Amino acid sequence: MLAKLQYALNSGTLNPGIRIVTASEKIRTPYADPFTREIVLQQNFLCYLWAICYCMNAFNRMAFEQALDHKLISLNRSPEAPVINRMFDWAIGLGTAHENWPEELPKPGGSAQWVKETDSVFLFAVRYIMYHEVAHLIFHRGSLELLSRHRSGQLSAEDRRRFVNMENQADDYAIDITLEVFPDEQYRYMNMLGGIIALLSMFFLRADDDLRGGKKHPDTDERLKRLLRRVKFDQPEHSLFIHYTVTTGLQVFFERHQIPYLPEDQASWQMEDFDKLYQLFYDKVNERKALYHQFYPLN
Ligand SMILES: [Zn+2]
Repeated sequence: MLAKLQYALNSGTLNPGIRIVTASEKIRTPYADPFTREIVLQQNFLCYLWAICYCMNAFNRMAFEQALDHKLISLNRSPEAPVINRMFDWAIGLGTAHENWPEELPKPGGSAQWVKETDSVFLFAVRYIMYHEVAHLIFHRGSLELLSRHRSGQLSAEDRRRFVNMENQADDYAIDITLEVFPDEQYRYMNMLGGIIALLSMFFLRADDDLRGGKKHPDTDERLKRLLRRVKFDQPEHSLFIHYTVTTGLQVFFERHQIPYLPEDQASWQMEDFDKLYQLFYDKVNERKALYHQFYPLN
């Protein structure tokens, strides 16, 4: 992996420059420019991603604190909840229009504990996204050129399959390359957490709850599942935090779109393990996707 990356840099397949777009416009997601061979990141998107990292880290911390003396965790009960809600709403709003960072909200680079934790997770989330784009430049440059030349053209079923495979390959590369550089458990955990939050940020960015990947991407929930299959840690708390982050993220997604996801009889409701909880949530996601298929088929 590393050798391929080095070769790509030496041969000019990959331009080591990163282009940061600072225009005051709504969020544009990162991409690899096949013509300049560089990665393009938009400042507004980076603000969004940091804010989502902050919220997800805060959810973990708030839940952990409450779990010490509450059987049932309710994030709204925490004193930090108003700030987190404001942060989340501002971040989501960036998807529609640029808005300066609100003065009263936490920012990157501060000395507060949650800010420092967020800064670390954010770097791993950006790393995941950038290596995904690097993979496109190393492995799919010819196809990317083709794609940008025929942006409006119709894609055949075979083309779509190809694009979905390319995305899966880029997702795998993003996690594999970092594992190669940082094989140690703590880094593996941060690497996985960064990737997961990067993918969850895609869930939240959608204005609707249609998680289908469209013509060129895998479904967003399938990307998350693919990444989760890689979760293998020696220390159980690492797996626990990852699963807690994902299931909280899915609940935030359901709440945001007012999708009922909890059984009616909550008093006696108990999940034996995370697999059962995932099943409940994925069934809900599949229900929504089936509805979109029915009314807005992709073909
Ligand atoms: Zn991609």
